[in-house]
Amino acid sequence: MTAITSSNCCRGCNASDPKLFYRNPQIPASVGTLPHSRDAARQMPCGQIELVACDRCGLIQNRVYDVDRVGFVPGYEVSLFHTPTFRQYIQGVCDRLIRRYGLHGKRLLEIGCGGADFLRLICRSGGNHGVGVDPTIAQPLQESVGDGSIRLVPGFFSKAHDALIGDFICCLSVFEDIPNPLAFLTQLRESIGDRDVPMYFEVFNGFRSIRELEVWSIHYEQCNYFSLESLTGLFERAGFSVIDADVCYQGDQYLYVEARPGTARSPRSDFSSMIPAVDRFAGEYEKRRERWQHRLDTWQDQNKTVVLWGSGGKGISFLTSLSNSGTVAYVVDVNPDRQGCHIPISGQEIIAPRRLAEIAPDVVILSNPLYQHEISRQLTELGLQPEILVA
Ligand SMILES: [Zn+2]
Repeated sequence: MTAITSSNCCRGCNASDPKLFYRNPQIPASVGTLPHSRDAARQMPCGQIELVACDRCGLIQNRVYDVDRVGFVPGYEVSLFHTPTFRQYIQGVCDRLIRRYGLHGKRLLEIGCGGADFLRLICRSGGNHGVGVDPTIAQPLQESVGDGSIRLVPGFFSKAHDALIGDFICCLSVFEDIPNPLAFLTQLRESIGDRDVPMYFEVFNGFRSIRELEVWSIHYEQCNYFSLESLTGLFERAGFSVIDADVCYQGDQYLYVEARPGTARSPRSDFSSMIPAVDRFAGEYEKRRERWQHRLDTWQDQNKTVVLWGSGGKGISFLTSLSNSGTVAYVVDVNPDRQGCHIPISGQEIIAPRRLAEIAPDVVILSNPLYQHEISRQLTELGLQPEILVA
């Protein structure tokens, strides 16, 4: 993969001058690794975001994304497999793919397999033989899983890996990080040639979070914000036939496409109706930023103790978007692996909920409204009655 320079061309259809609607001059480049001290936090690599929306193909992309800044290297870890809800969901995906494509004893390729949780699952469940390619793999590895096997190859997937293409290709939570999505798919189509190799791609439903004005959900690692239509259009433009595509996972957070090699065609080319949505997002982001900066200034003048609950991507984006976020004293997280670490750039220590008993915050800001009820209960159990606000 190559880094993007600030050129004015859409990477989904090559149209010129997609519309710039959102800027973030400094945001941590990775949420997959957390620093262990305040000093290290201040040194964490940052990147810039300039989101552009193309009204020809619907792609929304960070036009100044540089994949090398993210640090997709061994040690990078964002797996959701420890979450029971996710595990149940992904088992369902695996079973459906095995049924639909007869994946028994087949040769599978996973592009960007991470820790290979999904590859292991689908190879064990169907007795398949899988190869996974990923830059975060430390060492080449081969292992048996049930009646099948997996082999892991370190590196970014490229033309050099053509020989690994077998009977089926999958790619989950990776295509949204690929700087040149059309070039990537076009190359993959060429590599497949005249073989019939079906594939499954799954991505973050980025346009949904923009349409729903989730202003803190823009992260550096993700350079493409797809809608279902812009995603399927890319596959068709690159020479694939879409078999099936839809929203999936909780609250339609993800999108998937199942496709097989076909003939390149030009799908719908008027996405001007999405422009009001991206303009609304930009306006809302500025409003929310100003409102929160004002609130933090007021609390600082009143000597109030303020904490944020939730150290994930949303929390990090919130803290680094506000110039006066130093008013937030700590960040609370229930995940013991994150406690004791610090938020990149803004530097707050991440603490366990029980520490709040001694800190006695006046204000608790929630980075995710989903857990409001649960957090209110925990605060009451600690004998605390702070003001609670959603970021
Ligand atoms: Zn475009």
